[in-house]
Amino acid sequence: MKIFHLLYISTSIAPAKSETIQSLLDVSSKNNKAKDISGLLIYRSGYFIQLLEGDETVVNTLVARIQRDARHRDLKIVLSFKDEKRLFPHWSMGLITDDQDADMLALLSKKLTSSKIENRDNMAPEAIEILKSFSKKYRKHR
Ligand code: FAD
Repeated sequence: MKIFHLLYISTSIAPAKSETIQSLLDVSSKNNKAKDISGLLIYRSGYFIQLLEGDETVVNTLVARIQRDARHRDLKIVLSFKDEKRLFPHWSMGLITDDQDADMLALLSKKLTSSKIENRDNMAPEAIEILKSFSKKYRKHR
């Protein structure tokens, strides 16, 4: 089975406190493990960026639920793709807090959602490469 990967960006309705992020991570880790979903979460300058990977229907159902969450708004799907493997097989939800990494993906995600479709297709491989580099870098931190 190919793994469906979905990356979205959304705007936090208020500056998220570390307790809010921790509680999101706790709920997400527990729920996602049960659904065989893995991925990562970034909170940066008022934006959430989340990668979800797993079965396509299960991921889409979860995104629809997350979209209704009152803690954020304007959820936009940045990219989605299928691949043989998961990038974060051991993270039911991992938080990336490294400033440079978070900034890099946040910037690219914003660019991807605001650019025209044809440019998006050109930028998508760059975003996937960033995710793959995170996958290698954070393997040690699991
Ligand atoms: P309930 O906790 O009963 O929630 C009922 C409703 O209230 C839902 O609409 C819920 O979204 C909302 N809600 C819950 N807590 C709060 C709160 N403290 N403040 C405001 N509204 C609240 N869930 C996952 O399972 N996996 C994920 O990967 C995941 N990622 C998320 C990423 C972001 C950026 C956000 C904001 C939320 C994420 N969630 C995730 C949480 C998800 O939106 C649901 O809150 C959670 O799945 C529980 O949903 P529920 O309907 O079972 O629960």
